[in-house]
Amino acid sequence: MLIVNKSYGLPATFEPGLEPICYQQFQAMSSAAAKEDLSLYIGSGYRSYHDQEIIYDNYVKSDGADMADTYSARPGYSEHQTGLVIDCNTIDDAFGATPEAAWLAEHAHEYGFIIRYPQGKEDITGYQYEPWHIRYVGSKIATKLYKSGQCLEEYLKVDSKYE
Ligand SMILES: [Zn+2]
Repeated sequence: MLIVNKSYGLPATFEPGLEPICYQQFQAMSSAAAKEDLSLYIGSGYRSYHDQEIIYDNYVKSDGADMADTYSARPGYSEHQTGLVIDCNTIDDAFGATPEAAWLAEHAHEYGFIIRYPQGKEDITGYQYEPWHIRYVGSKIATKLYKSGQCLEEYLKVDSKYE
């Protein structure tokens, strides 16, 4: 199991692109949602180390590093660099109130995805609640987490803290 959080980073040379399994499962999920007249699309998928460097630096410039660290990863620590992550739709708090977000929370595990940064787990994941950010872990583990309510750090018994 590949884990990327504030404790576990990736080298700049790790550049897998969006993993085919992640893309295929997202497409299958999106098709299922479409049958219920819901629209799920990729707002953001794979991001390289360099992409993240630009994003993070911009946030630090506008909000300062302490604030930026609560919602954006430092380069090398973004889960988007794994190629196993998709941000759905609009990537803002308003997404959480949409029928798409409710559907995603109930069905993502069937396609192998987890809501990676759940509400109430901010101190454990190290990130604010992000209803749009899903991580592919396979349906077996995703279903386990869905049923137990654990986040990935709890399941793997690991921390998420910068050194
Ligand atoms: Zn994300």
